Amino acid sequence: MNKVFIAPRRYVQGRHALNEAGALVGALGKRVLTLWDSQVKAIVGEAVLASLKAAGLAVEDAAFAGDSTRAEAARVARLIQACKADVIMGVGGGKTLDTAKAAGAAAGVKVVTCPTVASNDSPTSSYTVWYDEQGNCLGFESWGVNPDLVLVDTQVIAQAPVRTFVAGMGDALATWLEAEACFKARGPNLAGGTATLAALALARLCYDILMESGLDAKRAVERKIVTPAVEKVVEANVLLSGLGFESGGCSTAHMVANCLPSFPECHGLMHGHEVGFGVITQLCLDDDMPVERVHRIVDFEIAVGLPVTFADIGLPKVGRDRLARIGEICAGPGSLCENHPFTVTADDIVNALIAADALGEERKAARKTL
Ligand SMILES: [Zn+2]
Repeated sequence: MNKVFIAPRRYVQGRHALNEAGALVGALGKRVLTLWDSQVKAIVGEAVLASLKAAGLAVEDAAFAGDSTRAEAARVARLIQACKADVIMGVGGGKTLDTAKAAGAAAGVKVVTCPTVASNDSPTSSYTVWYDEQGNCLGFESWGVNPDLVLVDTQVIAQAPVRTFVAGMGDALATWLEAEACFKARGPNLAGGTATLAALALARLCYDILMESGLDAKRAVERKIVTPAVEKVVEANVLLSGLGFESGGCSTAHMVANCLPSFPECHGLMHGHEVGFGVITQLCLDDDMPVERVHRIVDFEIAVGLPVTFADIGLPKVGRDRLARIGEICAGPGSLCENHPFTVTADDIVNALIAADALGEERKAARKTL
């Protein structure tokens, strides 16, 4: 299998970067369809529209219906064609951006993603995660190309709820651990090949930034301010995590995370929180890492507020019988758990989940006695 690395064509990040939307988007086309929900438009709409219009661009405005369904993507693609737009600009959370990517691919126009939260890996990736009308996840689909421009305004991200920022750190924390497991197993990445050394290096940088600056950045975002630590962690959450998962590959942390939404008790969690617990599970599945480093990762998760125990993910006292379902899916055909240099059984996963909960409890107790 070839080594493959994919990425967006341009990434721009900074305080008030949305004020430069006109010049940046104008390099891609002349007629823009913006896609956002009313809440996001109320926050950034004025600045974005002023910048686009000052650059002489024709702008049409579409209200996002709320979920990245195939019907919504088809509706937005029809709007692109009706107004003869040559650029679709998704502004908001992962579902808005995923819908913009899908509609842009269907209509054959340039795609711009502007994340207003740093909670997930959507902005840079070539993928759309599909949902049905009831909000159930149906899986994901690649468009073969990444966005033409990713425009990240760190002031907007610092004003979003801190919970979204922490979830993004959970998703980003998994990037290097999963890419490394995948690399050792010679497993496939999500770009249609195996990982380059560049993808591994970016994934490792993502991890190092979080461990060094994650807590400082969270404190700043709680006060809605942008500091150098916030800039670094936004880059880790949005750029490095996005490039790292797609071109590095995923394994158990994401596989466990993807199983949790089937538990009704977990519905209040964001994807990155689920990945955070998946990280601890993966650390308990693979004994490759020195115990001091394992403790450092668990302690980091506790410090920033990511879930590390069954109680934290809404499943206190969950029994082995219910966990067995996760084990079966993780050990099933086509599972991301195949991306380890050893065979993973359903029992291994259940044991790792229980060990993760026990480790999380122990590190929380140790923290209290400090
Ligand atoms: Zn993820």
